Amino acid sequence: MLRFWLAALVLIAVTDLARAADRLNVVASFSILGDFVRNVGGDRVNVTTLVGPNSDSHVYVPAPADAKKVADAKLVFVNGLGFEGWLSRLLKAAGGKAAVVTTTAGIAPLKVGSEADPHAWQSVGNAKIYVANIRDALAAADPADAEYFRTHSDHYLAILDALDRDIRQAIGQIPQRRRKLISTHDAFGYFAATYGVEFIAPLGVSTESEPSARDIARIIAQIRAEKIPAVFLEKIIDPRLMNRLAAESGAKIGGTLYSDSLTDEKGDAPTYIDMVKHNIKALTGALANP
Ligand SMILES: [Zn+2]
Repeated sequence: MLRFWLAALVLIAVTDLARAADRLNVVASFSILGDFVRNVGGDRVNVTTLVGPNSDSHVYVPAPADAKKVADAKLVFVNGLGFEGWLSRLLKAAGGKAAVVTTTAGIAPLKVGSEADPHAWQSVGNAKIYVANIRDALAAADPADAEYFRTHSDHYLAILDALDRDIRQAIGQIPQRRRKLISTHDAFGYFAATYGVEFIAPLGVSTESEPSARDIARIIAQIRAEKIPAVFLEKIIDPRLMNRLAAESGAKIGGTLYSDSLTDEKGDAPTYIDMVKHNIKALTGALANP
């Protein structure tokens, strides 16, 4: 009997080794996308994330090692919609042969002026489209594991459906006239459009530009005139501007919102689900009651 179990253990170990060896090597451009890919790919993929936790994809400068990671990957998952301005040069540096998967394919982009707003993941309905695109790309690259990817994505999609319901219920607790706030950069357009909360941001859809003195004066006047209850900080951006807006307008600091990046394991938002839950808790905490 012991011999049988030892043989079984060896068999399991050998199977695991074989599986590890034929795992699909993939790259995700930033942490939120990396989390989506991990949830669909499970133990059949090795996911390398380029822009890691607590980092800003808008102003990222790829390292030479990133070109190697891209060159070694079977698939490169990107957001698209102009989010990764540094991507085309990186792909060229990696030899130009990478198979790029644009995970926002099929999402109707919001426009800010003439530009597309890249922050589509902030609507959970859109997150489901990212997940479906990831599932289909993984299944095409590794047909033998297609069923596995489908099972994992179905499970994750059901969790996202529940999350979407949680957001609607949480926003429902905020009186209509208090569903407005200031965030640092314009990262919540899809959240605003889907869930009916107004976000006003001194920075545009990218973090590259700085607001002018006139922009700041206009926002302070708007906070006072519209009685906007709270100003929120963003993890990836220097808090000084927001602290100044709060001090000069009398709005309170509502906490921190996670917009473009997850945190590391010890932070408030190591996964997309954690990130959204943290954000709705911060929003209701600051806005639901005067
Ligand atoms: Zn952004």
